[in-house]
Amino acid sequence: MFITVKNLHKDFKIGKNSISILKGINLSIEQGEMVALLGPSGSGKSTFLNVLGGLVPPTSGEVIIKDYRISDMTENELCLFRREHLGFIFQSYNLISTMNAIENVALALTFAGVKKEIRLKRAKEALEIVGLVDRMEHKPSELSGGQQQRVSIARALVNHPEIILADEPTGNLDSKTSSDIMEMITKLNREEKQTFVIVTHDPEAAKYCTKVIHMRDGLIERWEDQR
Ligand code: ADP
Ligand code: MG
Repeated sequence: MFITVKNLHKDFKIGKNSISILKGINLSIEQGEMVALLGPSGSGKSTFLNVLGGLVPPTSGEVIIKDYRISDMTENELCLFRREHLGFIFQSYNLISTMNAIENVALALTFAGVKKEIRLKRAKEALEIVGLVDRMEHKPSELSGGQQQRVSIARALVNHPEIILADEPTGNLDSKTSSDIMEMITKLNREEKQTFVIVTHDPEAAKYCTKVIHMRDGLIERWEDQR
């Protein structure tokens, strides 16, 4: 199995109290799947995605991606793992406002020790995939919401990750722009064979996915195969 999650728990400490947010999640995802995590606000979707991506440590349980047991990794190992294998897309795009589109995308390669010309070349290729080469000199404030999300998708793609984790990627977009973004993600999933895990509370966005996992109150309530 490509991604395996076993009996995953996450508690958060609030003062002296501890609250249980993920209450024993079991899940497996095959390579090339496009999975939607659907569920009401507060059900633990973002927390789960962050644990899956090694951004937040679990309280107990296992996350295994390929042959890597990421729930046991040190912070340094996680950093390297994320750079090599994962791409992230966020609802709020998280672009740097003083940098233009191509610089924002190239920035994701700075830490990988790639030379500047190569970084810019690869950033341009990623912007080509999302159809934004003609806007590569634009700053985020000079782009629409949908275009900013395309830049952030290019940034997630630039290191050719096998897995892309997206938290409400269409959350700030109107319904037409949302379906454009979901179509682009579907195309990447089909053509580049990348595995996507997409948190959303929008059932329309979930329709594009091969599997829909319904979360409620820190647990998987049920799931549907849509292939
Ligand atoms: P969703 O993405 O489904 O809306 P979240 O995973 O963001 O849900 O949050 C689930 C619950 O966990 C919420 O009640 C939230 O307040 C709580 N939570 C999330 N992150 C933290 C944190 N760092 N510390 C304390 N509580 C948190
Ligand atoms: Mg969330």
